[in-house]
Amino acid sequence: MPITPDTLRLIEQMRRAVGSIVDNVTRSLVEAWVRAWDQMAIDVAAGIAEILQVGDGQWPSRRQIEQTARAMSALDVIAAALTRLAALVRSQTIAGAGAAARIALDGQGELIASQLPYGSTRAMAARYRRQQPDTVDAIVRRTAEQINAAHWPLAEEATAAMKRELIRGVVVGDNPRTAASRMMKNLEGEFNGGLTRALNLSRTEILDAHRQAAEIAQEDHSDVLGGWVWHAELNGTRTCPSCWAKHGTVHPLSEPGPIDHQQGRCSRTPKTKSWADLGFDFPEPPDSTPNAREVFDSLPEADRVAIMGRRRLELLDAGAIDWADLSTLRTTPEWRDSYGVAPVKDLERIAKQRAS
Ligand SMILES: [Zn+2]
Repeated sequence: MPITPDTLRLIEQMRRAVGSIVDNVTRSLVEAWVRAWDQMAIDVAAGIAEILQVGDGQWPSRRQIEQTARAMSALDVIAAALTRLAALVRSQTIAGAGAAARIALDGQGELIASQLPYGSTRAMAARYRRQQPDTVDAIVRRTAEQINAAHWPLAEEATAAMKRELIRGVVVGDNPRTAASRMMKNLEGEFNGGLTRALNLSRTEILDAHRQAAEIAQEDHSDVLGGWVWHAELNGTRTCPSCWAKHGTVHPLSEPGPIDHQQGRCSRTPKTKSWADLGFDFPEPPDSTPNAREVFDSLPEADRVAIMGRRRLELLDAGAIDWADLSTLRTTPEWRDSYGVAPVKDLERIAKQRAS
């Protein structure tokens, strides 16, 4: 039953390990995107220069642009680069998901042992290692399916967005150089929009693979476990109000999760049954899971505002809303259900209902 300081240390260690996988993937995708743009910039600039010539002081029509050889070949270059980048996103995400899954599988035995009387659980770690390769394979396969899913046609989407941008054009005015640089900037913005989507997908899938692996490994210990605890990072101001509110909630082992919002970094901590239930005949130490509300209330005012936003914090401090109201379940056809931050307007409505 008790989550000990040792458990918390292990959670932190695991979080760092997964965090560094995510950071490395992020870094390599950002670098690849920057490099790709640098390589294309000359082609794109030549395409824009020709468009400006064709338009003779005006941004030309869609038809005129489509007859501009250089602009069209620049779009081909862009499409090819994005196709290559999509393959890189795929391979990086799959590798990251495998590594993150392995960390979760490796860590569960120790997390559980840290909550039991010393020396009682040496065998725990050995129990599930034997099936680890199969589990990692299955999770990696699932990650690959998610990325291949029709809702993520990165290259097509980003190329189409850049083409729309090109056809829409910019106000030319009297200085073609200004027009050209403005258009370059717009196109680069669209190109980097592809990076934003790729990073969101990649991080989300890697973190989900980690949680799925934890879930599978915890199932193998269902005889000693009473459930799992939603664990959010309570340091600094990165964690959103929804995850603050969810921290410390206990869930049945059969429940998947934490079903965090996209890019959510919360983890699933195994929680053992009470020592008495497990047949240990000595007093159980207290649970060390920090109380999120207490931690939050002890933060400097600036941090509290940074996390909640001013109005949300006012409602909370006034007691007009409850801590749990900060988190709300979202259902969309494109993705799994997830908990995210309740919008202020919903919180205002809840406050009004409570007051009446
Ligand atoms: Zn969150």
